[in-house]
Amino acid sequence: MSKRTPSLMRLLALLAVLMVLGGCAQKPVTEPKRSGVGFYFDTVVTATLYDAPEGTLDQIWAECERYEKLLSKTIKGSDVYRINNAGGQPVTVDPETWEILRRAKEISRMTGGAFSVTIAPLTAMWDFTDGTQRMPTDEQRLAALPLVDDSAIILGENNTVTLPAGMEIDLGGIAKGYIADKVAEMLRDKASGVILSLGGNVYVLGRKPDGAAYNVGIQDPDGKSGEVMAVVSTTDSSVVTSGIYERQFVKDGTLYHHILDPVDGLPSRSDLASATIVAASSMDADALATACIVLGREEALRFMREHGVEGVLVTRDRQVYKHQTSETFQLNMLVDIPVQ
Ligand code: ADP
Ligand code: MG
Repeated sequence: MSKRTPSLMRLLALLAVLMVLGGCAQKPVTEPKRSGVGFYFDTVVTATLYDAPEGTLDQIWAECERYEKLLSKTIKGSDVYRINNAGGQPVTVDPETWEILRRAKEISRMTGGAFSVTIAPLTAMWDFTDGTQRMPTDEQRLAALPLVDDSAIILGENNTVTLPAGMEIDLGGIAKGYIADKVAEMLRDKASGVILSLGGNVYVLGRKPDGAAYNVGIQDPDGKSGEVMAVVSTTDSSVVTSGIYERQFVKDGTLYHHILDPVDGLPSRSDLASATIVAASSMDADALATACIVLGREEALRFMREHGVEGVLVTRDRQVYKHQTSETFQLNMLVDIPVQ
């Protein structure tokens, strides 16, 4: 017994050292609150994390960069770039790109084409950001319309995508939602609370340190940027707003904005100024918010009821409509407008 004691002691000491080292490796320094701002996909990305380990913000930016390289229309060599430049030949893409396109096609079918990623040849004719107020002539616009048809995207085996020559895709109405989902998934077990925002795509996880739900603002369509007319209180959900005030210009008294109606290739002239969708899937919420703008109030509400989609619609004349089927969120108006 006395002979074995020293080796047992050494073994215990070694175990203790290993446990301390292991503990250190698994538990990096956490901080009560970390915030960061990045710029990806042509938009501002912000993240606020509660009790997250060191390096988490950098992991978010790394993911954003990876997805930008995969899904950007303009970055040479991205999956979208290769699909758009394949001249009708099949292209092997990342399984994630394939999955986004699968869901995009589904949502396009469900919305009767109001959402169409093949809108790309038309979005390319407009510029809502650079101040040039570029827009197509009627002739150019009408010539591009037959190229808009998501059902023509062929998704083959082994992650292949084939697009008829001349057609192009633009994931601007769905990619940020997909990325928000993936980043949120990565953060779920890392932080006690998360507010992630990719442009109009917000994902919130957990709760604030005081136990309260998060408030996500709904922009006042007639107000200055950042002026909200209502807040959506929620947790563990995505809140996505598409608005006609986002990227737009006024020419000869007409407002031109970045959500195009695939039927005529013009900025949607529906009665909606914004559509906010609350859902577990930010990808779905993103695509559906865009689709709702095109559909207009009546059809959007019918769609939401039929498919159990929850959210808030604001018309151009400032009426507010809500469709809610669960306790997931609470809508609090900050202006004196009744909710219908
Ligand atoms: P944002 O990009 O400002 O968050 P949306 O999610 O509403 O706004 O998406 C608008 C973007 O989607 C446009 O900038 C364009 O790239 C693309 N797009 C425009 N109209 C449509 C449409 N009818 N269907 C699918 N995508 C569209
Ligand atoms: Mg969208």
